[in-house]
Amino acid sequence: MKGRIHSCETMGSVDGPGIRYVIFFQGCNMKCLYCHNRDTWNKNDGNLKDLDQLVQDIESLQGFYSRDSGGVTVSGGEPLLQSEFISGLFDKIHLLGLTTAVDTSGHVALTPEVKLVLSKTDYILLDVKSLDPVKHREITGVNQVYVNQFFSYVKNLNTKIWLRYVLVPGYTDSDQDLIKLIDFINEYNNIERVDILPYHVYGKEKWTNLGIKYPLEGLSPPKKENIEHFRNSIKDSCRVIVK
Ligand code: SF4
Repeated sequence: MKGRIHSCETMGSVDGPGIRYVIFFQGCNMKCLYCHNRDTWNKNDGNLKDLDQLVQDIESLQGFYSRDSGGVTVSGGEPLLQSEFISGLFDKIHLLGLTTAVDTSGHVALTPEVKLVLSKTDYILLDVKSLDPVKHREITGVNQVYVNQFFSYVKNLNTKIWLRYVLVPGYTDSDQDLIKLIDFINEYNNIERVDILPYHVYGKEKWTNLGIKYPLEGLSPPKKENIEHFRNSIKDSCRVIVK
């Protein structure tokens, strides 16, 4: 079986626990204004990679991943658009004794294939773009129908969730946004950790290289005080690890 893959990172340290082999899948169905992987959007780009070859590559580096719950993370793009491939991959990763993680926005239909992948997932890295319907559409170009269904579904799984929230000045950083985020976190028993990720401009170069205008031109990263305000408020109000 083959998957369409953008790139792989062999020593990932931020996409789940331990050291991780991170696979960036090609293709995304959102259009985030601040996307730092703009070159993953087109589902026909990237390279076709054979499942067994990929597993061999991971196995050759297995020693790095076997400590501290390390393993393999699928990211993107939107990895769950290639669920059949990931389902086969996760079976083999578990046979190696490593953990599996899916980094997803949740903007996918809950097909049997997607549910099967989630049943084989040890960590869901859940990218929450905005909890406000208008802002969500503005940031991602899509409505919240799929993400709401996905969020409700994963709430009832035993899988650990690491929620990720990009703090974008003027889009996701108001006190109203913070209140909605805290309420959301407190509805879940399985959110273990929350990462508040300050918006940055490092992805801009990819847009420029593709000859596409960067939509957030001129927007500065959030102020340190507001990043700390978000982190401290969540720490005070929710039983989760906050980074
Ligand atoms: S979901 Fe991720 S890869 Fe897709 S557009 Fe948004 S930031 Fe980019």
